Amino acid sequence: TEAAATTTRATKKLTQDEAANNSTPRANAAFVVLLQNKDLHDMRKTMQNLEAVFNRKHGYPYVFLNDVPFTEHFKTHIRLIPREHWSYPSFVNKTQAALNRQDMENRNVPYGESESYRHMCRYMSGFIFRHEMVQEYDYYWRVEPGVSFSCDLLDIDPFMLMKTKRYKYGFTIALPEFVDTIPTLWDTVKRFRKQHPEHISRRNSLEWISYDKGDTYNNCHFWSNFEIVDASFFRSKAYLDFFQFLDDTGGFFYERWGDAPVHSIAAALMLDRREIHFFNEIGYRHGMYEHCPESPELQLKCACDPKDNVGE
Ligand code: GDP
Ligand code: MN
Repeated sequence: TEAAATTTRATKKLTQDEAANNSTPRANAAFVVLLQNKDLHDMRKTMQNLEAVFNRKHGYPYVFLNDVPFTEHFKTHIRLIPREHWSYPSFVNKTQAALNRQDMENRNVPYGESESYRHMCRYMSGFIFRHEMVQEYDYYWRVEPGVSFSCDLLDIDPFMLMKTKRYKYGFTIALPEFVDTIPTLWDTVKRFRKQHPEHISRRNSLEWISYDKGDTYNNCHFWSNFEIVDASFFRSKAYLDFFQFLDDTGGFFYERWGDAPVHSIAAALMLDRREIHFFNEIGYRHGMYEHCPESPELQLKCACDPKDNVGE
């Protein structure tokens, strides 16, 4: 689990040439995918889908990240990422962490037993946007192997929309988090708010994540397996202070804090309300949950059933 992570980057020559012939402006942006060697074929499906509905017109690059070396199949460029991005902070008591995992497994908490899942969530929460190959991009779109996109997006460029409207965080699906994975997260957030009032936005969305003015968390979170972000938000002092504050408690390992509630709470507290954007027009499916736009005019561009929407 403490193996150094490797990365690879792919740009399809053809799409880049096509994009070069195209005069539409392009953002400094990339798709960023954390995956494993076993995911190659699921990823190829997702890529073919993304290329067809959107990226064949733009040629945005893909950055693939892994915690173990990629097989020959995968490689175009390989780099190592710093080991400390995928390992325990020194102060975390691994024996205690293992006991807590066992306890969560006994209580059937999703991924309760998994050590690698915890490294993954911490990596996504605090490190992915600082990776040297991601660092060079202003915006990134998080993609997972096996997800699918059901609407024609050729006439829009979500990255350019983020840029021109100055959105910082884009999502398609919001859901409640499993409470058992985050028993002390909200108390930690409360302490952060007290200690760092300077990082809390005046026009925040606290009312969206708390029904009692911040006393308790309502567990609502953006489902971060899809996210389109202005990475300057995650690289900001405010967010980095927030991540550090959380990480210093060991909660990613003693509990099982997901990057979804971490990103969501940060966006809700530290961004201006108008900087958070719902990408209604992006039909998206991950596993059992789907977002399918309902409006008749968007339906014309989509191959999905609005009845399958989450929470409806
Ligand atoms: P879920 O969506 O919460 O059920 O979790 P996933 O299993 O889909 O993991 C989320 C993302 O992290 C996916 O892109 C996975 O490919 C990736 N991922 C999860 N665990 C690991 C791991 O141990 N190593 C690597 N390299 N990627 C991982
Ligand atoms: Mn997934």
